[in-house]
Amino acid sequence: VVTPGGAIEDGAVVFDDRILYLGPAAGAPSRLEDCGEAVITAGLVDAHTHACWVGSRHAEYAVRMAGGDYRDIAAAGGGIVSTARAIAQASEDDLEQALVARLQRMARMGVTTVEVKSGYGLEPAQEMKQLRAIARAAARSDLPHVVPTFLALHALPKGADRAAFVKRATELVTEAAPLARFVDAYVDENAFTVEEARGVGRAALAAGLGVRLHVGQFADVGGAELCAELGARSADHLEHASDAAIAALARAGTAAVLLPVASFTLGQAPPPVQKLRDAGVPLVVASDANPGTAPTESLPLAMAMAVRLYGLSPAEALDGATHLAARSLDCVDRGHLEVGARADLVVWDLPHEQALVQPWGTPRARHVFRDGVAI
Ligand SMILES: [Zn+2]
Repeated sequence: VVTPGGAIEDGAVVFDDRILYLGPAAGAPSRLEDCGEAVITAGLVDAHTHACWVGSRHAEYAVRMAGGDYRDIAAAGGGIVSTARAIAQASEDDLEQALVARLQRMARMGVTTVEVKSGYGLEPAQEMKQLRAIARAAARSDLPHVVPTFLALHALPKGADRAAFVKRATELVTEAAPLARFVDAYVDENAFTVEEARGVGRAALAAGLGVRLHVGQFADVGGAELCAELGARSADHLEHASDAAIAALARAGTAAVLLPVASFTLGQAPPPVQKLRDAGVPLVVASDANPGTAPTESLPLAMAMAVRLYGLSPAEALDGATHLAARSLDCVDRGHLEVGARADLVVWDLPHEQALVQPWGTPRARHVFRDGVAI
């Protein structure tokens, strides 16, 4: 049993919807079910996903593999804009069904909390439709706990007036606030500027929402400093982050959300992980589940890649996919096994917690509980 204080050999967990006992099996207050050789950890927490999508972008993957890059695909009307077309044609029911099926598959991989962003609607009515579909999934107790994020600035719709689009997206934050916990914006070259994202971030804070931003995926244009200025809970991507950016995140206590599946897909060099670690920036690992740059639903795969490609230790990967991820989502009673915390936990068919980052692509969760109920 893996706890924040270390692993308990021959350990036991007793729980209802909260954890009641953690310790040696010999001292447990009630009769126990013997799990045999197994590891028990907190349920995994995926702090960055775009899991509410429909359609498929297999064709553009083939284009990318033939030598086209992300920007070529975007210029040809593919990428985010092609998923936006699929979203526009889908009903709220269609979106809910696609998301629910995806969350069920994530649960089978040991994930009990999932942040889900909108951002494929682009147009206000479509963004609200996506947020309502996310809210329906979030209302269910038989799925992972859902933390909804309004991704206000993701891509500019084809032919849209830039200034008018940003103004409308900023105004939409207030309207979206009852359906979201966080607001996000994509700050990068060929995306949105610091100034544009600052307006959205301030609107989020005014509406009582938290901020998390996509920054530094292709270039450092000052997004990390904006995260620090806004007191953002997370700065996500950071493949490009200057020393000043890292220092700003450390000062603000903003977590770095590492997305190794995306940089793997795009063939990019890793973020400056050693510098982030040295600066004391919390390292969160997430799947970035999306139909383009991270076509996976597997947080364990992202953990494996964080170890192999980014140089995290297996323990850092587990911390980054449990309690550090939960803290970045303000879910402080999830993501860790402690008496009184919510009973989100996983029994793994594995010999050791370090083995979590090894059986790549193979689900090894035997039992998955959210709030004490099997999901
Ligand atoms: Zn993303």
